[in-house]
Amino acid sequence: MLRINDLHVYYGAIHAVRGVTLEVGPSEIVTLIGSNGAGKSTILRTISGLQRPRSGSITLNGTELTRMEPDAIVRAGVCQVPEGRHIFANLTVRENLELGGYTLARPSDRQEAMERVLERFPRLRERLKQYAGTLSGGEQQMLAIGRALMARPRVLLLDEPSLGLAPQLVHDIFAIIREINQQGTAVLLVEQNAHMALGIAGRGYVLETGRVVLTDAAQNLLNNPEVRRAYLGE
Ligand code: ATP
Repeated sequence: MLRINDLHVYYGAIHAVRGVTLEVGPSEIVTLIGSNGAGKSTILRTISGLQRPRSGSITLNGTELTRMEPDAIVRAGVCQVPEGRHIFANLTVRENLELGGYTLARPSDRQEAMERVLERFPRLRERLKQYAGTLSGGEQQMLAIGRALMARPRVLLLDEPSLGLAPQLVHDIFAIIREINQQGTAVLLVEQNAHMALGIAGRGYVLETGRVVLTDAAQNLLNNPEVRRAYLGE
């Protein structure tokens, strides 16, 4: 469904993404693993239209996303939860969620999307009037995911959802990601926590300095001695 072909991205003279080709099928969870600076966030930001590629293509069900504006990419069905969450601290939980639904034209669609998100995240329903900046770290991550789901994406891009969270919360967030996927949303997941990521993903890509060096079923990557040594701390 989401297909990236021979993508090259530069920051000035820095060649951050060097010919990456990957795909995410309609019902898949796919993970990108790799050390700091490997280019994972850059790939997500480029898919979202926040960064322009030098060359290569990004398509969703055959529709070219490569030169689209970020809001058009959201409307096309691809939505990103950025690293560090980036919720609006001075707005309430409800207002944050409403902003996530701004691409839905019909008020009834926005209401329905809100109801679905609140069903998934009862903690957010209890805190609708609370300022987002006063939420705990885990709740903020839930809000960031909920806000992305408001746009009813077909593909959800997640950048380091476990960052800074306690182990139990990481577990909860990953369970939520799995549920979201089971209800029909494809997921492209960038994670430092390769163990958790490969635990829920069907397939993975290993990136090193902007290149895909290995791709396989997640289970095979978990069993791969080199991956275990480099990314699973063994
Ligand atoms: P991390 O896990 O540390 O976030 P990453 O795999 O997501 O790493 P990127 O953030 O995509 O890696 O960075 C890829 C390369 O591009 C790095 O060498 C980084 O220094 C460089 N880079 C990223 N953002 C910028 C920027 N705004 N300006 C210049 N160089 C950048």
